[in-house]
Amino acid sequence: MNIRFEGKRVLVTGAGKGIGRDIACLLAQLGAHVIAVSRTAADLESLQQEIVCTPLIADLALADSARQAAQAAGPVDFLVNNAGISIPQSFLETDVEAFDQTLAVNVRAPLIMAQVVAAGLIARGQAGAIVNVSSQASKLGLLDHAAYCASKGALDQLTRVMALELGPHQIRVNAVNPTVTLTPMAEMAWSDPVKSAGMISRIPLGKFALPRDVASVVAFLLSPYAEMIHGVTLPIDGGYLSV
Ligand code: NAP
Repeated sequence: MNIRFEGKRVLVTGAGKGIGRDIACLLAQLGAHVIAVSRTAADLESLQQEIVCTPLIADLALADSARQAAQAAGPVDFLVNNAGISIPQSFLETDVEAFDQTLAVNVRAPLIMAQVVAAGLIARGQAGAIVNVSSQASKLGLLDHAAYCASKGALDQLTRVMALELGPHQIRVNAVNPTVTLTPMAEMAWSDPVKSAGMISRIPLGKFALPRDVASVVAFLLSPYAEMIHGVTLPIDGGYLSV
């Protein structure tokens, strides 16, 4: 198998840091032209030192800004809805602003981006593929993550409805659901062995994911090798959810 994306244009949100940056870099290495959406200009400038890409600054928490970014990207073949935030708060202290912000970035923005991308594909009579970056937090409760878990549960359900309605247009839609993934930020948060031991002990493979573990699955799901994979929410979790 040899995945190549020459001639394909892919919109990746949250491409400035972490998993999204790795997805952008891998897809570019595989020949795609990446349109990289993120909030911090410096991140996109440094990404342009690494790969050829079209940078788009947008705050996806704002509905209009998300729509404008998706429109500004122009015609694309693929969309990776990766941008996401987490604002840890106990359930009793979860405030409305943090809840709304989390839902706006993690669910509403993917909805808007996908609406614009899918409408374009349908108008051009073109097949396409969309991957939503969800989380294992969609499938189980995590302490102090009420808004985040609710948002990722909603993103999984959004994925299923998108698959149902966009499938007839040959637009494949899937989600990936990683466990803790060691981005530079997560590495800091989980470097304390006492804190990480509890979580790792529940992962049969005994380790956290790396950004490349997620990026390579996203590349596969976008590729023709995943031609019949549609509507799945795929754990990338070393077995955490499955055994
Ligand atoms: P990250 O390192 O914090 O990077 C997130 C990226 O998204 C950043 O470039 C950030 O830009 C961008 N972003 C956030 N809010 C945005 C907004 N309102 N508008 C535009 N861009 C925005 O996060 P990550 O760990 O790579 O997570 C990426 C995705 O994977 C998320 O959906 C997350 O829920 C999911 N996930 C992560 C893990 C994990 O352990 N890391 C596990 C499971 C699922 P700024 O920095 O400029 O805001």
